[in-house]
Amino acid sequence: MVAKLTNFVNGQWRESGATEYLPVRNPATQEILAEVPLSTAADVDAAVQAAAAAFPAWRRTVPEERIQYLFKLKQLLEERSEDIARMTTMENGKTIVEARAELRRAIENVEVACGIPTLMQGFNLEDVAPGIDEMMIRQPLGVVAAITPFNFPAMVPLWFLPYAIACGNTFVLKPSEKVPMTMRLIVDLLAETGLPPGVVSLVNGSKAVVDALLDHPDVRAISFVGSTPVAKYIYARGSANGKRVQCQGGAKNHVVIMPDADLEMTARIVSDGAFGCAGQRCLAVSVAVTVDEAHGRFCEAVTDLAGSMKVGYGLENESQMGPVISVESKRRVEDLVGKGVHAGAKILVDGRNASIPKFEKGNFIRPTIIESPKDDELGSMEIFGPVLTVRRAGSLQDAIAILAKSSYGNAASIFTSNGAAARQFRYEAPVGNVGINIGVAAPMAYFPFSGWKDSFLGVLHGQGSDAVEFYTDKKIVIERWPKEWSRKF
Ligand code: NAD
Repeated sequence: MVAKLTNFVNGQWRESGATEYLPVRNPATQEILAEVPLSTAADVDAAVQAAAAAFPAWRRTVPEERIQYLFKLKQLLEERSEDIARMTTMENGKTIVEARAELRRAIENVEVACGIPTLMQGFNLEDVAPGIDEMMIRQPLGVVAAITPFNFPAMVPLWFLPYAIACGNTFVLKPSEKVPMTMRLIVDLLAETGLPPGVVSLVNGSKAVVDALLDHPDVRAISFVGSTPVAKYIYARGSANGKRVQCQGGAKNHVVIMPDADLEMTARIVSDGAFGCAGQRCLAVSVAVTVDEAHGRFCEAVTDLAGSMKVGYGLENESQMGPVISVESKRRVEDLVGKGVHAGAKILVDGRNASIPKFEKGNFIRPTIIESPKDDELGSMEIFGPVLTVRRAGSLQDAIAILAKSSYGNAASIFTSNGAAARQFRYEAPVGNVGINIGVAAPMAYFPFSGWKDSFLGVLHGQGSDAVEFYTDKKIVIERWPKEWSRKF
């Protein structure tokens, strides 16, 4: 019997009122791991009401005490890291090494949020006028919610949860219905810390749950990570309802390869960036723009690497790349490659129609590389699979012009040994995260995750001090205490 997942409301796992359930499948085997409820607006209301009821006491819990739960959570995440990573591999498909690395980045956010007694401080000035002092203090918002994608089942929810609750808010999570089981384990650990009921809730489901959160009058802020069309929808509806909203969207990340780079090393880093997590990272390298004579040697090295990558089940130690998330996703990616080839792109490594021994039913695509002579659909849209497009440019300026055309602005990197070229790239690339001789420019938890253009809607990003700004309201207090008004004792 396959387990039916439940929602975590008011400190307890409770059955959802859903009439519909979806299977949660292991993308390497198609085994059904569980069934996830498509919860209802009433389920969301129960979670938000519990969060609203928990807020006054949680807000009054002093920051030093609030972070003790996070210290305990960090400890439990370390102790249970292997179980969590295995669960991530089973429901998402990434390799166990990638799942462990993801969890490390998740834990890093818990660690940073433990600094809230310092991070949440305001500022003040005595004598803004004679005898008058002014201060800025930060206060939590109330009930806040996050809606998260399938590709980082542990890390993305923890981009938000630790900061939100450390700041004194209560938090409702809607994880991706494709990967609901990793956060189920982590919420269990949160419960083990003794966190008061209602401070964190989890409601499983899809669009109906999202809409109920967007429309609920008691939800003050929404954090979203996922594809750009959904990001735009959530930003518009959430803002129209008067909420504070931050939406991290899709991406199309370029790397520029200069002829003076170490091309063998660059090919290794770009190959990891393009094919790691089967290309299902919002910071995945999608387009390599080779400048001038960098082209030949880079292509040779990267095609060799792609062709020799060991694709397989993520729980098998030798696997370097796992499957994509679903049958539909595999079909979509392979169709896009087909269309590109039909439109004139040259295929350098063809990973379509992969069959992995023992895992013939899995959603595997082997690393694929195409060379595209021009701007086409493949070069502009987010593919979200293990596909690298190579484009040529005559100069750094031309290469920057190619990436500037993208509607996305999540990340871009340059590979070079020339400081002036690196500086020009850093200065001019219209993206929020820049890598210099780095393939995946993923900001550490104490820096904001800074997407631009269609990769981000909002003002304050996730992680670090932006997260503290997002999850607090500023209050200005101006005070005067004339001696003559004080009662004498
Ligand atoms: P998705 O947009 O399909 O889903 C994300 C979340 O939105 C899920 O919880 C899903 O249930 C919900 N959702 C889906 N359709 C909806 C709709 N019509 N109305 C309301 N809610 C809806 O994204 P995904 O496929 O889970 O994740 C992959 C995407 O996420 C990629 O585009 C990737 O680039 C992006 N991503 C971005 C970042 C970033 O930092 N910018 C990080 C990770 C992933």
